[in-house]
Amino acid sequence: MEFFKPMEIKYDSKQVNIENIEKTRCLIIGSGPAGYTAAIYASRANLKPVLYTGLQMGGQLTTTTEVENYPGYPDGITGPQMMEDLKKQAERFGADIRFGIATSVDFSHKTHKVTIDDDKVILADAVIIATGATAKYLGIESEVKYAGMGVSACATCDGFFYRGKDVAVVGGGDTAAEEATYLAGLCRKVYLIVRRDVLRASKAMQHKVLNTPNVEILWEHQTIDLFGDDGVEGATLIKKSGTPEEEVIKIKIDGFFLAIGHSPNSDVFKKFIETDEVGYIKTIPGTTKTNVPGDFAAGDVQDPHYRQAVTAAGTGCMAAIDAERYLSELK
Ligand SMILES: Cc1cc2nc3c(=O)[nH]c(=O)nc-3n(C[C@H](O)[C@H](O)[C@H](O)COP(=O)(O)OP(=O)(O)OC[C@H]3O[C@@H](n4cnc5c(N)ncnc54)[C@H](O)[C@@H]3O)c2cc1C
Repeated sequence: MEFFKPMEIKYDSKQVNIENIEKTRCLIIGSGPAGYTAAIYASRANLKPVLYTGLQMGGQLTTTTEVENYPGYPDGITGPQMMEDLKKQAERFGADIRFGIATSVDFSHKTHKVTIDDDKVILADAVIIATGATAKYLGIESEVKYAGMGVSACATCDGFFYRGKDVAVVGGGDTAAEEATYLAGLCRKVYLIVRRDVLRASKAMQHKVLNTPNVEILWEHQTIDLFGDDGVEGATLIKKSGTPEEEVIKIKIDGFFLAIGHSPNSDVFKKFIETDEVGYIKTIPGTTKTNVPGDFAAGDVQDPHYRQAVTAAGTGCMAAIDAERYLSELK
């Protein structure tokens, strides 16, 4: 980390005190599989990266127990242990890992300005954004109570644990229809809980889900509670809420899958970085390049489709390689 000469720098018309400014070649924002993998590759390429972890050090996987689908762990591994291993691996090659949140950015200059915790300013030649995406939940108390004990927001990650069992999927869009058909291949029965009397999913996905024999669609139902002693054993639903036919029913299930969307953590970058209508950062296909030269995006924040640890790590690797090439050409 090199320090700027004492002076005041003007950005966004604000005077920034030099004592709170650092300059680095490569700044990584986020400490999930994408951020740590980018840090491993960037430090091994001698870019001396600085990584800010954000509030959730280690990312989403720190909220789960077993990870069984990450290659290289034949017996599986817990999410927190895997993230600790990735962190250690990045530190081994010299990555400077710090706790802090990117609270604002200015990407209008060749040197990219990122403010950490509304206080410290990092000036970076290249920035890798790896801030992930957060699954949306219904907001009922029992979702929190049964987190990791029957409640999941990822059928690809957790479906395998429910082989031969009964589960429910909440949602009416493409993701919900996809997750319901995926789970139908593993589970005995899948309830698809749909708030309205129609699906928002594409015609092709609707056709698929409507023709999967072990998927039962519960139209005009909403989940109001989950119950069970040592994990989810069932859900309480309200049918046709607010109408004369309103009815409360209970279904027996072992797993409850949310499929009502994700929020990419991209708000802080949106003034400069192009996103799609949901907020996923747009990258040039086949690369991690964003619309701003020198800014790269990796992991779930730019991935509306896969959102897996291994794909996040893969794009983290790509971002570090893209950043290294960009920096080597920088005059
Ligand atoms: C409960 C659960 C179980 C899962 N199980 C599996 C599984 O078994 N297998 C699998 O492959 N995938 C699984 N996933 C999905 C997997 O966790 C994600 O695909 C992966 O973590 C995405 O990695 P990422 O690096 O893109 O982002 P994340 O892991 O989401 O990390 C984002 C990072 O960015 C940081 N951040 C956010 N905003 C800021 C900011 N403004 N400034 C600084 N830092 C910031 C956060 O603190 C965090 O460290 C699971 C997800 C969940 C929620």
